[in-house]
Amino acid sequence: MELKIYIDRLKEGQKETFKGKISSDFLPKEQDLSFEKEIELSGEAYTAGDHLMIKLNAKILAFLPCSICNKPTEVPLILSDFYHAESIEEIPAGVFDFSELLRTDLLLQLPKFIECQGKCPERDTIKKYLKQEVSQKDNTNFPFSIL
Ligand SMILES: [Zn+2]
Repeated sequence: MELKIYIDRLKEGQKETFKGKISSDFLPKEQDLSFEKEIELSGEAYTAGDHLMIKLNAKILAFLPCSICNKPTEVPLILSDFYHAESIEEIPAGVFDFSELLRTDLLLQLPKFIECQGKCPERDTIKKYLKQEVSQKDNTNFPFSIL
């Protein structure tokens, strides 16, 4: 399955649907971030006036370190009925490669804060540490009370 939409195959009012698994090789590999090998992808493309419309559904597991204890943690990244409109005039050679779109939107789903097992077992250790800090400083408005 390719991540390309050929405009000339889409006649007005006609929908192209796709569904399948694609390699996640186009997602970035970083020290603290990795992904499952395949993305489950489905969606549809059609034209509306002078725009190409794409609807995407995608699912993949990302692996990130727990924000508290650093243990590798699975995070599902999900796009659900994600819509994108692209001006047909701006699509080079009538072929829209949506890998960059998919990449950006999946990466936007990455959480800034995650905990292993939904609630990190180390959380209490940190909490105690934070409480100590509070009493030492005798500051009742400690900003990290959210932990
Ligand atoms: Zn943890």
